[in-house]
Amino acid sequence: MTEPRTTRCLIVGAGPAGYSAAIYAARALLQPVLIAGIQPGGQLTITTDVENYPGFAEVIQGPWLMDQMRAQAEHVGTEVVSDVVVEADLSGRPFRLVCDSGQVWLAETVIIATGAQAKWLGLDSEQRFRGFGVSACATCDGFFYRNRQVVVVGGGNTAVEEALFLTNFASKVTVVHRREEFRAERILQERLFANPKIEVIWNSALDEVIGETDPLGVTGARLKDVRTGATREIACDGVFIAIGHAPASELFKGQIEADANGYLKVKPGTAATAIEGVYAAGDVTDDVYRQAVTAAGMGCMAALEAVRFLAEKDHEAAHHPISHAEAEKIGVW
Ligand code: NAP
Repeated sequence: MTEPRTTRCLIVGAGPAGYSAAIYAARALLQPVLIAGIQPGGQLTITTDVENYPGFAEVIQGPWLMDQMRAQAEHVGTEVVSDVVVEADLSGRPFRLVCDSGQVWLAETVIIATGAQAKWLGLDSEQRFRGFGVSACATCDGFFYRNRQVVVVGGGNTAVEEALFLTNFASKVTVVHRREEFRAERILQERLFANPKIEVIWNSALDEVIGETDPLGVTGARLKDVRTGATREIACDGVFIAIGHAPASELFKGQIEADANGYLKVKPGTAATAIEGVYAAGDVTDDVYRQAVTAAGMGCMAALEAVRFLAEKDHEAAHHPISHAEAEKIGVW
C-alpha cells in the first residue's frame, strides 16, 4: 500500500483554472501538486481554434494552449500527477483526497478546478446511439461525417462553433434550436448564416434519434415544434448535442455548498468556499462567464488566497507554537 503523501497545496483539475492556480502557487514556493484528472487540459483539448485568449494575434489551437500552460506550471515547480481524484474528505485537517491509483493525498489547502462537462438531453435514443452516431464533441468525431448529413442541437457558442466546424466534413449541417434566436456571439452567428451548408430549424427540439440496430447507427432525427407540438423526421447520419455544460462537482457534494445546478458556491469576489483553505475556480463555480481567460483569472485568485491563508497559519504557528499533541487535539495540522 502506498504511503500517503502530503502537500501544502493540492490542485484538482488541469484546465486553465488549475494550471493558472499552479503557476501562482508554485511561484509562491508552495510546491503545489496538480492532479490532472480524466481529461488533462480540460475542455480546450476538445476544441480547435481559439481566437479570444489574450496575447495571440494569430489563431491558436486549444490543445496547444493547454500544453503551454502545463509546461509553464511544471517549469515553475508544479508536480503534475496523472491520476483521478475519486474521494475527497474535507471535514478534517489536513484535507484527505484519494486517487484512483489508491494514492492518498493530505493537503493543507485544496483548489478545486474540476471544470464542467457537456450536457446531454436525457433521451433514451440519445444514450442508445452515443458513440454510434450521437456525439457531444464535433472536434473529436466530425471527421467521421465526410460528405454526410448531420444535426447539431443547441443555440450557444458551442452549437454554432460545432456547426461551423462540421461544415469542413459534412455535406449538410442542420442546426436545431428550441427558440428563434441564438445566444451565441454575433460574430459566430454571422459566419453561420453566411455558410451555405448550414440550415437552421428554429423553435424545435430533438424528440428522438432514429437509427438501425444492426449495425448500430443513426439514420435520422425526429423533431418537435415546441409551439405546435407537431413532429417531423429529417434524414441524417449523425447528431451532435451542444446544449451547454454541467459542473464536475459531484466529488464535493454535501461538503461544499452548491447551487441548484451543482455550481460550487464561493464568497462573492473571492475563490473561497465556506471551508477555510478550500477554494474553487473556473467552470466548476462559474455559470456566467465560462471562458478560458476568466477561469485562468479565478485560478490565480484561488492560489493567491491559498498563499495568504498559509502565510497567516505559518505566522500563527511561529508566534503561538503548540505541541504536536495539542495540534492534533484541536485539529490544527
Ligand atoms: P450555453 O451558452 O449555455 O448554450 C446552451 C444552448 O443550448 C442554448 O442555446 C440553450 O438554449 C440550448 N439548450 C440548453 N438546454 C437545452 C435543452 N434541454 N434542449 C434544447 N436546447 C437546450 O452553452 P455553450 O454554448 O456550451 O457555451 C458555454 C459557455 O462557453 C458560454 O459562456 C460560451 O460563451 C462559452 N464558449 C465560448 C466559446 C468561444 O468563445 N469561442 C466557444 C464555446 C463556448 P436557450 O438559448 O434557449 O437557453
